[in-house]
Amino acid sequence: MEQPSDTSFKFLSLGGSNEVGRSCHVLQFKGKTVMLDTGIHPAYQGLASLPFYDEFDLSKIDVLLISHFHLDHAASLPYVMKRTNFQGRVFMTHPTKAIYRWLLRDFVRVTSIGTTSSEKDENLYTDEDLADSFDKIETIDYHSTMDVNGIKFTAFHAGHVLGAAMFQIEIAGLRVLFTGDYSREMDRHLNSAEVPPLPSDVLIVESTFGTATHEPRLNREKKLTQLIHSTVGRGGRVLMPVFALGRAQELMLILDEYWSQHADELGSGQVPIYYASNLAKKCMSVYQTYVNMMNDDIRKKFRDSQTNPFIFKHISYLKNLDEFQDFGPSVMLASPGMLQNGLSRDLLEKWCPEDKNMVLITGYSVEGTMAKYIMLEPENIPSINNPDVSIPRRCQIEEISFAAHVDFQENIEFIEKISANNVILVHGESNPMGRLKSALLSNFSSLKGTENEVHVFNPRNCVEVDLEFKGIKVAKAVGNIVDEIQKEETSILKEETSVIKEETQDNIEETEEQLETGQSIKEEENTERIQEEGGDDIIVSGILVSDEKNFDLNLVSLSDLREHHSELSTTVLRERQSVQVNCKKELIYWHLCQMFGDITVISDDDNITNTTVKKEESSNGKLVLQIMGDLRLTVAESVASLEWTQGIISDTVADSIIAILMSVDSSPSSVKMSSKTCNHDHSGVTEEAKAQDEVSKIKSIARLFKEQFGECFTLLLNKDEDSKDSLKEDISGMITIGKNTARINFSQMKIEECNSNPLKGRVESILNLSSDLVSPLC
Ligand SMILES: [Zn+2]
Ligand SMILES: [Zn+2]
Repeated sequence: MEQPSDTSFKFLSLGGSNEVGRSCHVLQFKGKTVMLDTGIHPAYQGLASLPFYDEFDLSKIDVLLISHFHLDHAASLPYVMKRTNFQGRVFMTHPTKAIYRWLLRDFVRVTSIGTTSSEKDENLYTDEDLADSFDKIETIDYHSTMDVNGIKFTAFHAGHVLGAAMFQIEIAGLRVLFTGDYSREMDRHLNSAEVPPLPSDVLIVESTFGTATHEPRLNREKKLTQLIHSTVGRGGRVLMPVFALGRAQELMLILDEYWSQHADELGSGQVPIYYASNLAKKCMSVYQTYVNMMNDDIRKKFRDSQTNPFIFKHISYLKNLDEFQDFGPSVMLASPGMLQNGLSRDLLEKWCPEDKNMVLITGYSVEGTMAKYIMLEPENIPSINNPDVSIPRRCQIEEISFAAHVDFQENIEFIEKISANNVILVHGESNPMGRLKSALLSNFSSLKGTENEVHVFNPRNCVEVDLEFKGIKVAKAVGNIVDEIQKEETSILKEETSVIKEETQDNIEETEEQLETGQSIKEEENTERIQEEGGDDIIVSGILVSDEKNFDLNLVSLSDLREHHSELSTTVLRERQSVQVNCKKELIYWHLCQMFGDITVISDDDNITNTTVKKEESSNGKLVLQIMGDLRLTVAESVASLEWTQGIISDTVADSIIAILMSVDSSPSSVKMSSKTCNHDHSGVTEEAKAQDEVSKIKSIARLFKEQFGECFTLLLNKDEDSKDSLKEDISGMITIGKNTARINFSQMKIEECNSNPLKGRVESILNLSSDLVSPLC
């Protein structure tokens, strides 16, 4: 398995793909590695029963999650923890851990029985390995989320057996749901599997029953009790090979109830029921302890009757067969479930020659085991202790499935509810798995070619599934931004808004600044679209802070950054640009006022702006303006310096201010302003010359208006332009912008009429400025 690229998600089964047994799957995304389950294959012995651990470098694994205590999911855990280079952390639920201990101790014992000294080396691990590994296993509660270096995972009820969990794993926004073995049927003691509240991108789902359908639960219970009743009725013995924990307890609940209902025929020891397992007592005490983790029904029974429902009236425990007095009809639940060895195998060999007896298979039988073989109703079976002896088989063989795995209908309904675009089938023999794949593909065929197309995979062991997940970005809104969002959606307030999921827009310009802590701020001033369920999008802007190590992505407003990410030193880029200006400051101010309404005078030593700003102590003819909020322009001694904080808007404004500063010199209306004021006496100037001067002054002002208002401005000149007397009254201008009009008397430099206040204000400010602007050259 190669180290995946940044966007590729890799799935690899080391066991449990196209087979039932030795479940073990590896997920890799964004440099994180998660392993799911470490089972053994019940049909094989020793090292051959292990998943293909040699095919993957186990030292890469960050987190190992164990779905439940069954041997095909958990039994090679001590091997992985003690005999390989695995160094990750291991998690399972509390009940799984409690049961795991007893179960695996028994597993070590059972598998080492009958092995010769050379075979002893094949033992996968010792009791000490088991004890050592046990202390390092961490527990996780249902519905709680753990975070290990950016790998977040949450446990959900899976039904199946006590403590069984489905895990939803989230890495960098990608969510994967692993069902483990799961059941959607509410039985007598367990909750059925849950649908996690958050969606998943990838679903890894069991396919044990393929496209087969279970008979309704009640029918199966009825069939079971009738079969057993009729067998013991004819004096026969019933052998029910069961796994020590899980279905055994469910079957006991059914039988104990039935025996109570038929106490006159079966009760009071007439037909005893035994639960034969090395672990019988220990297992039952675990079940008695964890009643609070079971379903409401059984918890209510526990509360109401004040007696533990797992303390059975009609069932006795047998630790081994020494104490068993086999005199007449009886019902025996015995482990192990696959009849490979141990108590159930001994009883099988003892009882199978008699035709009044019955072997009743209720669990899932793994390929290659005696439980699977016996269902073919063979003439003879091999003896476990003496392979040369074969034992005739005449007993009745029946199968009624109480295996707590989903059937086709339940599975497909669940898969639809999860609605992941990628479904990976595991935990199923090739044929049923293949049939399920075809059925799923045809079920989702209408989505083919759309963006919701469902891809179904049924990989073999050690064959990688490689999926590309580009641009999944989840950002959590933090601080003020949350208030902002809530304000926006006061009418449609919903809880989910703190989580945003959004596809990256490839065209977003990214500015990335590496910061001291190794974290980075990405996409400054980025705009995020929050998707509301069935509502309108809300657009908020802030800074995306990404923690590269843990994949946390927070959307924070700039003002909040220090509070929520004190570890970040923020870099604010101030830009500064200076240009040479030869014109008067008044002219610069005037041009800027025309371009940008929003100008604050910070300091104005020569009082050219007519604003009441305090003069600085050491007056040196400086003019300081604040433009469009952030930009600061300082003009002093023929140099204009502009300073601003980098940003898309500020940069643009700065560009246009610089452009104005550069062109202000060459603008025709500026020529006079930039000329030197004369110092000589004007007293000798003739009246005629004065009049001429007035005309040219008015023309200059009129030109300014033309520049400002373009086609909307008309200059109205008196026909007797040369007549000195009429001159003053008659030069006027007209501005017409839609319905708004203004008439200006240039001779008196005032507005004669105007029907719009904004227009009036604008005209007035131009008139005020122009009186200075057109001050006569000498
Ligand atoms: Zn299982
Ligand atoms: Zn399983």
